[in-house]
Amino acid sequence: MGSVRLIDAPQPTPSAREALLRTNKIGICGTDLEIIQGSYGEAPSGSDYLILGHECLATVEEASINSAGIKRGDLVIPTVRRPDGCINCQNGESDMCLTGQYMEHGIKGLHGFCSEFSVSDVNFLVPVPPELSDVAVLLEPTSVAEKGVAQSFKIQERMIWKPKRALVLGTGPVGILTVLLLRLRGLDVTAVATRPKDSLKARTIEKIGGTYVNANDQPITSLGKFDLILEETGVSSLAAEAQGLLNNNGVLCLLGIYQPKLATQDIGHSYADIVLGNKITFGSVNANKRYFVSGIQDFKTIQQRFPGVLKSLFTKIAGPSDFSKAYGPTKDDIKSVIDFQTLN
Ligand SMILES: [Zn+2]
Repeated sequence: MGSVRLIDAPQPTPSAREALLRTNKIGICGTDLEIIQGSYGEAPSGSDYLILGHECLATVEEASINSAGIKRGDLVIPTVRRPDGCINCQNGESDMCLTGQYMEHGIKGLHGFCSEFSVSDVNFLVPVPPELSDVAVLLEPTSVAEKGVAQSFKIQERMIWKPKRALVLGTGPVGILTVLLLRLRGLDVTAVATRPKDSLKARTIEKIGGTYVNANDQPITSLGKFDLILEETGVSSLAAEAQGLLNNNGVLCLLGIYQPKLATQDIGHSYADIVLGNKITFGSVNANKRYFVSGIQDFKTIQQRFPGVLKSLFTKIAGPSDFSKAYGPTKDDIKSVIDFQTLN
């Protein structure tokens, strides 16, 4: 189980610009597992531990008067990243930080929200309408998908672009949420992973009108060409292969974290293909508050068009004392959640 443990931590005291939050739910993702294994993560200065949890739904327990309009009793999602002094951070785009000196709750230099109480800068809290309270903990992974999709469309404003076919590589929570966002935008979506056709993930993709392909049964090179591809597996050979599947004028968005890998590849052919087809490959990481806000809007539409689908992504819910179960693996898992409301 690596370095994860349950401790009695002191209740944090909010500064003038911070709100005190009471945690409702925490979502668990691959980054948490990497931190637990010790390959990632940085404790706040002066602390010898890092409180986990960057996917959080909370209730505001205490907030001084603020221009964001956040008040006691509000249901909120805190964003993850906090800005440094760079020009992008100072203009609301900490996800586009120039220096890398930003901090992240539960990941880098700031405690996360996986405790009964936590604090966040009040300006980085996104209000959640009550009708989304049972699914809103999915907003942080959704914000990552929102950014990838929005940036792809923004980049494509370079021309007349009417995308029809999209490919999503990887069906983790971000992958499934990406498929949902693309279905809302009317695209014909194919999603590829390695689980069988009768798995929960495959059935979820089919339920929202996507096509699921098990890469063990069918190579991705047999799937034809795509106008938009989002690569979320972090497998560098797949990313290289995906670029060859772009239609003319197509765009490939890389969202994975790729390990060093030496490969022999005909880069001349690859660059010629990019030039002669006006193709683009770009990377996207994290998400600023704007993408959390657009995620709330898309959640409302998803709840109407695909009722029950967001909630069906919660395949494991555990109380805080059951944390080892929550962070452990399960067959056919999609999203594990720690529910602090079991404490009440
Ligand atoms: Zn910055």
